[in-house]
Amino acid sequence: MTTRRDIFPVFAPAYLERYPNLPTAHRKAIRAIQQCQSGHDGHSLSQCQHCGGQHRVNHSCGNRHCPQCQQHTTQQWLEHHLDKQLPGPHFLLTFPVPAPLRPLIRSHQRRAYHAMFTASSEARKRLATDERFIGTALPGCPGVLHTWGRQWQSHPHIPSIVPGGGLSADRTTWLPSRANFFVPVKALSPIYRAIFKADMRQAGLLEHIDPQVWTLPWNVPAQAHHHGHSAFTSLAPSVFKVAISNRRIVSRKDRTGTFPSRNVGSARLRTAHLDVMECLRRCLPHVLPDGCVNVRHVGLLHASCASPPATIRLMMVQGHPRDDQPPPRTPPQPLAVRCPTCGAPMRVVMRLWTSHNGVVDTG
Ligand SMILES: [Zn+2]
Ligand SMILES: [Zn+2]
Repeated sequence: MTTRRDIFPVFAPAYLERYPNLPTAHRKAIRAIQQCQSGHDGHSLSQCQHCGGQHRVNHSCGNRHCPQCQQHTTQQWLEHHLDKQLPGPHFLLTFPVPAPLRPLIRSHQRRAYHAMFTASSEARKRLATDERFIGTALPGCPGVLHTWGRQWQSHPHIPSIVPGGGLSADRTTWLPSRANFFVPVKALSPIYRAIFKADMRQAGLLEHIDPQVWTLPWNVPAQAHHHGHSAFTSLAPSVFKVAISNRRIVSRKDRTGTFPSRNVGSARLRTAHLDVMECLRRCLPHVLPDGCVNVRHVGLLHASCASPPATIRLMMVQGHPRDDQPPPRTPPQPLAVRCPTCGAPMRVVMRLWTSHNGVVDTG
């Protein structure tokens, strides 16, 4: 199988030489992925719990754009949300921006992504507060920023999962939505667009945007899930998905990589052949600037919410008993490193961290 290890160590030096003025975040991501599990960041000595063999395991880089490291983060994110999930229906709402806005967003990423997060959560809250729909003062939702489409093209959008309801203003009562309807998406789209526009005006960017953008429909698709388990499980693989994932590299021959590809509007999977340097040039713009978050929690799922999930569950049961509980979960397997000889889990006996001043620390 071809992975980022067949691409980065071989082509990254040439890429860095060809594009010497890359943003710092891109350079950091390239170096981290290049050196991940190479021994550059130290290693651990682990012992197999079955055969007793000792093996050296190189440390991972931990960079949020590294495909190797994000598999673990995705699993942790899913477990965290399944632990906290509320009973009842959940809705997946996706907030896109029209294509003509994408170049501006790409050159003002921090401000534009912030505006997308704010506009999507405010628009949702404004309609959820309306008593014709839910009347809640506190809906909850994790929103996730995705910046690319199927061909690595710029396609920023925010999928977000909302539980079907919210808390009353005094936070003592659970107010449920309907089972298959959260808020009207036709009304949601223009509110989202108006809040985003106001933010762009405030940022002094409005004059750089083609006015036609404000006349286009900003469709917000919604998908109802019977319970949170299926909603979180369906979103999880893409939460920390990175543009340069191992699954997106089928093979490499010389300078040409083969990648899975789908045409817009088609479910048929094809393969595309691309020069590896061109592939890197398409992937790297999706590296987020430092300090720019890709997951944001608001409302009742935010850490500052005074009511913990257990209290909210109790309110839900008291006010609106339901029998559609999420399916039972099997406890997650610990993410242990496996013995290369017999496949049993290994236990770390010693960690060695490499100091790049040439000194090796033992921890
Ligand atoms: Zn073993
Ligand atoms: Zn890594």
